[in-house]
Amino acid sequence: MAKYTHSVSIDPDKCTGCTTCLRRCPVEAIRIRNNKAVINPLSCIDCGECIRVCKHSAKHASYDKLTDLDYSKHLIALPAPSLFGQFNHMNEADYVIQGLLDMGFSEVYEVAKAAEYVTDLTRIYMNGRQSRDPVISSACPAVVRLIKLRYPTLCEQLVPVLTPYELAGKLAREKAMREHPELSPSDIKTVFISPCPAKVSWAKSVMEGQKVYVDYVTSMNDVYMELLSRMKHDEVPSPEAASEAGIVGLGWATTSGEAASLMNDGYLSADGIDNVIKVLDDLESGTVSDISFVELNACSPGCVGGVLAPTNGYVARVRLHNLRKTGGMVVKPNDIRDVDESIAAGNISDEYTEEEAFTYMPEGAPNMLAMMLAMKKAEALADKLPKKDCGACGSPTCRAFALDVVNGEAKLEDCKIRTEME
Ligand code: SF4
Ligand code: SF4
Repeated sequence: MAKYTHSVSIDPDKCTGCTTCLRRCPVEAIRIRNNKAVINPLSCIDCGECIRVCKHSAKHASYDKLTDLDYSKHLIALPAPSLFGQFNHMNEADYVIQGLLDMGFSEVYEVAKAAEYVTDLTRIYMNGRQSRDPVISSACPAVVRLIKLRYPTLCEQLVPVLTPYELAGKLAREKAMREHPELSPSDIKTVFISPCPAKVSWAKSVMEGQKVYVDYVTSMNDVYMELLSRMKHDEVPSPEAASEAGIVGLGWATTSGEAASLMNDGYLSADGIDNVIKVLDDLESGTVSDISFVELNACSPGCVGGVLAPTNGYVARVRLHNLRKTGGMVVKPNDIRDVDESIAAGNISDEYTEEEAFTYMPEGAPNMLAMMLAMKKAEALADKLPKKDCGACGSPTCRAFALDVVNGEAKLEDCKIRTEME
């Protein structure tokens, strides 16, 4: 794997060292050093929690700006399903698609449509699987990275199918090549409109030999601002019907949507990174039974709650619900069979899977044995610390501080309370 590219970073000039993010990072990736927050790139999962909580706007996500796009190319917008829940009083998804075309995109390929294909692929994968362990959705890249870093024994339970936006990029590119023989492959560029930094990071971190289906990843916030001025749906008649996604694909934007789309009763779904960690702890310890599919979303209530999405996720969820109920979104015939004959025969060809991406160990990841030894030493040291988790040492908890000392990243004297107690 090429080096993991993080989207989330910090502006030290804006950071006041207030420790808010230190306490809220779910994987204890933040430390305060010299009165500034620093992120440990080996631990960070790009969940965006620190962006959400920083009152000083010191944390931000990097992504491709709309002004960076090369509009001389055949640009294909890949809107995430959550984009359709951002707008008030909108009863037809076609307004969004028309708005994207008006922004200068040559065409639009809905990620929701690809999500429906991923549902089919997942069903085929589950039917052919021998193991009785539940499979875990690989759609949330923050969760996938968390599993790889903290729960490596669960890696083999991740569904090894392309994510919806990668599949959308692949299918959109192939469609454009078919319909525009005058274009060369380098003339076609796909642009994913992301609700979260984790998806930006995943798309930008390409494994050696892995095919790239998404050329740019931009922010839903930025696209939303552009769309607002173009979507005058109170003033103009309905645009031409263009949306091809069905309610199943649109449902992926909120928690349980992916799991429910499998039409399988034995599923578990959870959202919010703290709940996700609790479920992963249970899966790792083997205490979960009678479950065949696990859907986990780092954000609540699913991707609509991503930190790059402008609208409150719970409001967006209601809007999506109404759009699915009253709008132009209808269940489309399952046309995955048009995509690949092997799928029609109940097989999944390699071009729809990326198992290696889910089972590799990230570059720089600590050796498990060395990590366990360090943890053991840290536990012994933590027993001698004040157990106040005050954060004054720059580590989020006494236990994390003990590990930092064992790893040579902090000195015992940094704990002022302990020094005072002696
Ligand atoms: S929340 Fe974190 S990044 Fe923001 S000012 Fe406080 S310490 Fe700095
Ligand atoms: S993005 Fe998430 S994991 Fe990374 S430092 Fe921020 S809160 Fe921690």
